[in-house]
Formats: sequence, C-alpha cells, structure tokens
Amino acid sequence: MNGITGIHFLLTYQCTYECDHCFVWGNPEARGTFTLHQIYQVLGQAKLLGTVEWVYFEGGEPFLYYPILKRGLRQAVDMGFRTRVVTNGYWATSIEDGVEWLMPLTGIGIDDLSISDDLFHSDDEKKSLAKNGIEAARRLSLPVNTITIERPDGCSGGSIVLRGEQVVGGRVMFKGRAVEKLTVDLPRKLWTEFTECPHEDLKNPGRVHVDYLGVVHLCQGLAIGNLWEKSLAEMTDSHKPETHPICGPLIDGGPAALVESYDLNLRETYVDACHLCYLARLALREKFPEILTPDQMYGVFK
Ligand code: SF4
Repeated sequence: MNGITGIHFLLTYQCTYECDHCFVWGNPEARGTFTLHQIYQVLGQAKLLGTVEWVYFEGGEPFLYYPILKRGLRQAVDMGFRTRVVTNGYWATSIEDGVEWLMPLTGIGIDDLSISDDLFHSDDEKKSLAKNGIEAARRLSLPVNTITIERPDGCSGGSIVLRGEQVVGGRVMFKGRAVEKLTVDLPRKLWTEFTECPHEDLKNPGRVHVDYLGVVHLCQGLAIGNLWEKSLAEMTDSHKPETHPICGPLIDGGPAALVESYDLNLRETYVDACHLCYLARLALREKFPEILTPDQMYGVFK
C-alpha cells in the first residue's frame, strides 16, 4: 500500500449544523482541532510518501478555525500540494460579508472551494448563506464548486428489493448519523447481498482522512494507525490489508463477510452496504478499540 494521493484533514468535528447525512457526526458541541505544528507534521509526512497530490481541509466545519485553516492551506500550497476546502458557507451572512471572509484566501492559490448547497442544508437561511458564499467566491475569482447530496429515497445499486419498493438512486452513504436518521422506511436488501465495499479501495487506498486525535481513517471510523505514534510511511508500509481484522473480511466478501467472520447478530435487511458495515463495526468496537475509533465516528460523545 503506497499509492495514497489524497490527505483529508478533518480539521475539527465541530460544526455549526448537525446534518442527518453527516458521516462524522459533526455537531456544535464537538471540540478540538489540529495545532499548526500538527498540520505541518502531517504535511511533512505526506510529502515523504512521495505520492500525495491533493490536500483537503474539511470537517466538521473548517471555517470555525479560520486562522489555522488559512495557515494550513498556505503551507500545503507552498509545499507543492493542490488544495481543496469544503465548507457549509455558514459565514456568508451576505455576499459582501462573504467577500470579506474569503478575501484572505485569494492570494494563497487554492484549487477548489466547495460549498454545500443541497437538500440537507436547504432551509431558507442555510440555502441563502451557501448561495451568498458561492457568489462571493465568484466575485473574488476563487475556484468554487457546490456539493449537492440528494435526499435518499431508495437503495443504491443491486437488483433485489424487499417490501415491494422500487430501487431509486440515492447518493447518501448510510454510515454515521445517516444510519440513525435516514434509514427508517427505506427499502432494504438481505445482508447476504452486501458482498463488497462499494466506495473504498481498502487494498490500495487512494486517500485517507486524518483527524486531530491523530487517527488515520481508511473509511470513517476504520483506522490504520495513529499519526502521533507512527509516521504515515511506517503505517502504509506495515499495513497488510488481507490480514487486517476488519479490512480482510471486507476485501474478501464485503460487510456480509464481516458479519460471518465474527458471527454477528446482523442477519437481517439493510439499506446499503455501508449501513450493514457501520452496524457490524459498531458491534465490534469493544473487540477492536484501536481500529474502530474514535468514539466521535460512532456517535459516542463524552
Ligand atoms: S462498505 Fe464499509 S468500508 Fe466500505 S465505504 Fe461503506 S462503510 Fe466504508
């Protein structure tokens, strides 16, 4: 495993909103962020890998730690990485104010500013904030995109549908808060159907997420190590996906294999592979506390 091309900083789990589809259980009460020293440390380790091209700053809501975000972006650009920021645009209380917020980012040379503008952020106030932010970015000629997640109304992929419902495409992945908030009344399939991980290449991951606790995630809440204990290079060198207690079964036969390997009491119906995977991992947390971590990713708040 040595082809990581993207590092995603989960700059904080804190967020101004608490969206139903949030993988990372972002919320206003969450605390903690990277120090600048830690960001430089991660960027240095990413550089040493020699394969990383993109550095993302996301969260939670990264604009809550604006000076750290800005300095981290500048450092990443100076080190030759391409950069992207993901925000919900809460700061754009008007177009003019949005311009003021974004002005300090104009000289840095970021490659993309993505602003969430979708059905989950679409009460009137949130929607207009996102639109203000998008317009403000355009006025400053910042490269801006919108992120739109469709509200789910069916299973994604596959052909067998239970309860007589029609399959309709939906792009929410059912992990994190989405499992609790969005799975009710959706059509489901038998657990045996979920024989592969549809979204992550666990054998040769192209990207990892890192959080301020040092956790390096292959998928949200599925860790391969801790950056404050081991470097990224050591981690990627020593990671053996096939013998990893969670990745191994997932690679062999998806979430269904995870259920079978550990004889989990989850032989029912689920909305998608991530729904079953998330519940299986939740059931295995006590057995693998250092891999299925941190608490935040499983909705456990102290
Ligand atoms: S199946 Fe599991 S490992 Fe794969 S993307 Fe879904 S939650 Fe992540």
